[in-house]
Amino acid sequence: MTRLLDTHCHVDAYPDPRQVLRDADAAGVDVVAVTETPDAYRRLRTRLGRTGGVQVALGLHPASAAAGAPGQLQRFFRLLPDAAWVGEVGLDHRPGTDRREKARQTALLRSVLDHELARTRPMTVHSRGAARETVALLSAAPCRAVLHWYTGPAGVADDALPAGLRFSVNTAMTRSASGRALIARLPVDRVLCETDGPYCRSGTRAAVPGDLPAVVRYLADTWSADVAAATETLAANARALLVL
Ligand code: MN
Repeated sequence: MTRLLDTHCHVDAYPDPRQVLRDADAAGVDVVAVTETPDAYRRLRTRLGRTGGVQVALGLHPASAAAGAPGQLQRFFRLLPDAAWVGEVGLDHRPGTDRREKARQTALLRSVLDHELARTRPMTVHSRGAARETVALLSAAPCRAVLHWYTGPAGVADDALPAGLRFSVNTAMTRSASGRALIARLPVDRVLCETDGPYCRSGTRAAVPGDLPAVVRYLADTWSADVAAATETLAANARALLVL
């Protein structure tokens, strides 16, 4: 059976990460376990050991206090050769973010994008409140980025396409009017899946990778395809992202 890929899941934020991964495996889902700091990456790598079906992504989350501490970028670059994925990185201009903080985040993301090795890795990118700025930075660097839980303007999403950017879709997006409008707008070959669990909810509980089949059913409907064909499309999209 063709497996799905959850390109953005905070495995380390669930009470029992191993159980989440066992359930994901049973649901036919492989997982990209994003982290928010280089130290969190190292801890999760150690904790998961040789667990199959999961790749730990090396992250430096713009809104994480630790990511702003000195030495984090150097630590990030030191661990980079070892990491198959980069994430979560990006910009976060939530209300109240001042100009100085925005400049700090831009400098950080630019440093990551300037690094040749980082550009060879698939990268899952946060763009809260900063869609235009994030897409501009990603478009200026040849990289393999996926915009995760994109909530920016439709016109900016259109601008992201010529730059080769992808979008990952979660359960919340399949339930909101803006998410549905975005999904309908995206070329089929630019769509990937994510949970963003446990922060993204599925009803009253935290989303889990095992929820992805419901996202696939929604995409299949949108694409007027059957679930098997939509699954193949998503698998092909994931493969295309992984091939240099
Ligand atoms: Mn996230």
